[in-house]
Amino acid sequence: MIKVAKFGGSSVADSEQFKKVKNIVLSDPMRKFVVVSASGKRGKNENKITDLLYLCHAHIMYSVSCESVWQLIEERFITIKNELNLIYPIEEDLAKIKSELKKGISEDYLVSRGEYLTARLMAEYLGYEFIDASEVIIFDYSGKIDFDRSYEALHAVLKGNDKVVVPGFYGALPNGEIKTLTRGGSDITGAILAKLVNASLYENWTDVSGILIADPRIVSNPRQIKYITYEELRELSYMGANVLHEEAIFPVMEANIPLHILNTNNPSDEGTIIVENNEDEQITVTGIAGKRDFSVITIYKKHMSDEVGIIRKALSVMEKYNVSIEHMPSGIDSFSIVVETAQIKNAKYDIVVDIKEATNADSVKVIDDIALIATVGRNMANCPGISGRLFQTLGKNDINIRMIAQGSDEITIIIGVENKDFENSIRAIYEEFVN
Ligand code: ASP
Repeated sequence: MIKVAKFGGSSVADSEQFKKVKNIVLSDPMRKFVVVSASGKRGKNENKITDLLYLCHAHIMYSVSCESVWQLIEERFITIKNELNLIYPIEEDLAKIKSELKKGISEDYLVSRGEYLTARLMAEYLGYEFIDASEVIIFDYSGKIDFDRSYEALHAVLKGNDKVVVPGFYGALPNGEIKTLTRGGSDITGAILAKLVNASLYENWTDVSGILIADPRIVSNPRQIKYITYEELRELSYMGANVLHEEAIFPVMEANIPLHILNTNNPSDEGTIIVENNEDEQITVTGIAGKRDFSVITIYKKHMSDEVGIIRKALSVMEKYNVSIEHMPSGIDSFSIVVETAQIKNAKYDIVVDIKEATNADSVKVIDDIALIATVGRNMANCPGISGRLFQTLGKNDINIRMIAQGSDEITIIIGVENKDFENSIRAIYEEFVN
């Protein structure tokens, strides 16, 4: 049995964190594949190595010396090396990268060095083999992971070696050029590897003890989620709950590999397990998340329900302005299009005029300052009266619901409220269903 263990930036921020990682990895012989992020912040006022590397690249782009930033990067890595008495000649690699800085280094290559160097140090410290992500995480030219080629490449490089450290966050294009994933992408690397080696578990070690039912900045001491399904987590991450990179779910979901979120600083905490399904737990609401600043564009037209194609006409206007749509609640003589306000900010009035013209609507109105809140729970589908309770709770708290949408699989109820009611709504829903 194989476990893939991914450690985030704060888990590898300094030599003390490296020691915790070693204890965790060596305490379970199944933890054979280790993925690391680049060293993160040691304290609140410090920077992540990745941010420093991006900063360095920005300096180069503007022909400004990045010497002082580079020194911070060097100091971080060399301190870890010295404090752990490692022999990997990191100074040579740092000097090589530094010399490349002057020769028009690519941004992806430069920022990937954070993970590369952290993984080199970690591999030696654990006594594991180092495998470069550029050899085993292969993209196609459209930027998607090529699983078949990655599978072949990984198994060719492994050569029976089954204890390895792989840097997260990057891979290579078919021509060998380094390409990074989006920010926080080491989560995705871990998930891809878990799929490629058919792991029995993907462990994602962070600095929190799992996913909380609601944002702790809004609800004080929210309870922790023990089990959550992949779909539920997708809904919550999309609505702003961010413990894990949104895209990390797909590879493990496709391979039906459970994902366990754990805390490097408190390894015995239960954490949160993300699974295909867990019918044993009979909780109603798994999590609550939300985001502010949406706009609702409502199109009114008498006898609209008899008209064929009116929605398509309105949507083609949104497509013309390249605006993606969040929800589309509809009535008999009206329907609404919910979008992020930022997306229509510069073209709001043009969009209204174009929709009016395209649909021949009686009127088109826009309301801004709407917050969307998703109440997510796999058991809600079989349980009558949940939305009734939700609306009643908000009513009792004097919160006006401006919009309602429910996903077709019934695991999410989304409500739109005014931005000013955002936090109170989340607290009220939490009180009703969790406390
Ligand atoms: N180091 C990268 C970042 O800061 C990737 C990661 O940590 O997952 O975004």
